[in-house]
Amino acid sequence: MFNHAIFNTLHEEVSRYGATLVAVSKTKTPNEILTVYQAGQRIFGENKVQELIPKYEQLPKDIEWHLIGHLQSNKVKYIAPFVSLIHSVDSEKLLQVISKEAVKCNRIIPCLLQVHIAEEETKFGFSEQELLAFLTNYAALPLSNVRLCGLMGMATYTENVAQVRKEFAQLAAIFKQVAQQYVNLQPHFKVLSMGMSADYRIALEEGSNMVRIGSLIFGERS
Ligand SMILES: *Cc1c(COP(=O)(O)O)cnc(C)c1O
Repeated sequence: MFNHAIFNTLHEEVSRYGATLVAVSKTKTPNEILTVYQAGQRIFGENKVQELIPKYEQLPKDIEWHLIGHLQSNKVKYIAPFVSLIHSVDSEKLLQVISKEAVKCNRIIPCLLQVHIAEEETKFGFSEQELLAFLTNYAALPLSNVRLCGLMGMATYTENVAQVRKEFAQLAAIFKQVAQQYVNLQPHFKVLSMGMSADYRIALEEGSNMVRIGSLIFGERS
């Protein structure tokens, strides 16, 4: 259940860090999303294309929709006309498809590269090494209609705060290094998307400027 007081406190805390709050609305109904919209929230994140499309169609058009989950190449065409930010780019091939579909829509699509920082094997993303190798070649790639705006990562799902902090610090260090080293990415390479309901505070302390928060805003998912 949406709790206005919790939302306001969260919004204030995130703003104090100068960070952006993405309200993760996966599994939630359009009416539940509208409640949060009416509280002032305009940025919502979804992890599945098939769930995002009907919500985009039904809900107010000033919502900025972020795709935060694993994205299959064959689904890019459905979101290319309107998506505001794709957090989960995890391959060069996917970026090529996004650029191609963006050309058809006459758009430039902002993207984040997902970096694998967690211990778990199930999380998608570039390793640090793969990321640096990819960025070294990036300027030479024909990717006219995507814009690399930063990095996204997820920490290991654990109660071990020290480990979570270490992983966020590691991603923040990679982000800083990339921002300094790959000057061709400026002035757009500014977003560090890390932190969810359970660990957003640690993420903010470690330098996150975009948090993706679902259950804390909407209540637990069933
Ligand atoms: C579900 C999800 C979130 C939000 O998770 P909560 O724990 O509900 O805050 C953030 N990022 C991604 C990629 C997700 O899939």
